[in-house]
Formats: sequence, structure tokens, C-alpha cells
Amino acid sequence: MVSPGSLTVLSAPSGAGKSTLIKALLADPRAAGTVYAVSHTSRDPRPGEIDGVDYHFVSPEEFRAMIDRGEFLEWTETFGRYYGTSRPLIERQLASGQRVVMDVDVVGAKAIRAAFPEARLVFVVPPSYRALAERLAGRHTESAERAKERLSRAAMETAEREIYDFLIVNNDLAAAVDELAGIVVDGKGAPASGPPGFWEGFFK
Ligand code: ADP
Ligand code: 5GP
Repeated sequence: MVSPGSLTVLSAPSGAGKSTLIKALLADPRAAGTVYAVSHTSRDPRPGEIDGVDYHFVSPEEFRAMIDRGEFLEWTETFGRYYGTSRPLIERQLASGQRVVMDVDVVGAKAIRAAFPEARLVFVVPPSYRALAERLAGRHTESAERAKERLSRAAMETAEREIYDFLIVNNDLAAAVDELAGIVVDGKGAPASGPPGFWEGFFK
């Protein structure tokens, strides 16, 4: 498909700050004309999340019906819940020339890369695995058991980082938003290989 808009895909271990970053970007005048591709999910909304803004919240039955109708560009089942990208939504956004930002897991990022080879793939991490655990606990949105599940998945996700073009270390939020704006608007950012020694120190 020929698409005049640009597509930036963000993935991150759960709790790295991806939603926070995307919200800050969309409020930033430098990123005017940037839209968020709202995914569908069968998980429950967290406090403060709005249907149609953060996700389209649907029942598992509705989600499965959408799969059967071929409405997803890609979808996955993670943490016992469905998540997916609506094909008509993303095609409409791209065709209208907008800069589109998406939030998908590593499975979704691979599927998007296959469908849109020119997509910019960004991996977001906190400064360390310890910081990730602290942020996840501090968000108070998952039970201890579900938070543990998300943390163990993080190790698998970081192992897939080579498929990404860019890395953002979300330490200082304002600096991370600057980096994201640079990638979304200009297509320029720090490579996914990270600063020297970063990955060796990440899990310490
Ligand atoms: P994700 O969407 O990646 O799962 P969230 O955006 O929900 O993560 O962020 C997880 C938690 O970390 C939230 O409580 C958020 O306020 C906090 N957070 C996000 N960015 C930073 C940052 N740069 N420094 C400290 N805390 C942060
Ligand atoms: P959360 O429940 O924290 O909002 O999201 C859990 C995981 O699902 C995150 O890794 C997030 O990137 C991923 N995710 C959200 N929407 C989609 C989607 O449409 N497709 C895929 N493949 N993953 C998604």
C-alpha cells in the first residue's frame, strides 16, 4: 500500500513508561499532526483510561468476531488478554498523510514491519530492570502476581531489541519526549544497540 503518512511503532517492557511518553508527545506542539493508532483489547480499563482514547475496550467474544472478519492488521494474546491493531483505522490514518504512532508488543512490531517496511521501530526501556520493577509496582494497576508476569516477559522482550531501529532510555521524561519527537518528526534518533555498556548494566 502506498501511504503518504509516516508510521512510528513503540514497544517496551510493560511499565517502561511508553503510554506516558506517547501522551506527552501528542500534547507537544512539535508533534502537531501526529495521531495515535488506538488498539483494541479485551482487558479491563485501568483507572483513568478512556474507551476510544487509550484503547477500544471490547469483550473477548467481540474481539474473536473481529479476528474472524479479518479486521486486524495484527493481533496477539498476551497476559491472557487480546490486543490488536485495526487494519481500516491504520490505513485511514496513513492515507490521510498523518504521522501515526502505535504501541504494540514485539510480536506486533514484527508484523507491522512486514506490512510496512518503512515503519520506524522504537524500543523504550527504563534505565534499569530494577527501575522497571519499581515503576510497575508504583503504578498500582496490577496485582503482585500480574506484575511479576509482566516483569518476566520483559526479559524476553529486551532479547528481541535487534529488530528495532531506535532506543529511548526513559530516565528523564522530558529528555525522552525530546528523543521521541526527533524520531517521529525527523526520523532521527539513537540506535537500538544503546550506549556502550548499557545492556550489560541493565539487568545488574
Ligand atoms: P507502559 O505504558 O510502558 O506500561 P506507563 O506509561 O504506564 O508504562 O508508566 C509506568 C509507570 O512509570 C507510571 O506510574 C508512570 O507514571 C511512571 N513513569 C513513566 N515515565 C517515567 C519516568 N521517566 N521517570 C519515572 N517514572 C516514570
Ligand atoms: P497494557 O496492558 O500494558 O496496556 O499492554 C500490554 C502489552 O500489549 C504492551 O506490550 C503493549 O505494547 C501491547 N499492545 C497494546 N496494543 C497492542 C496491539 O494492538 N497489538 C499488539 N501486538 N500488542 C499491543
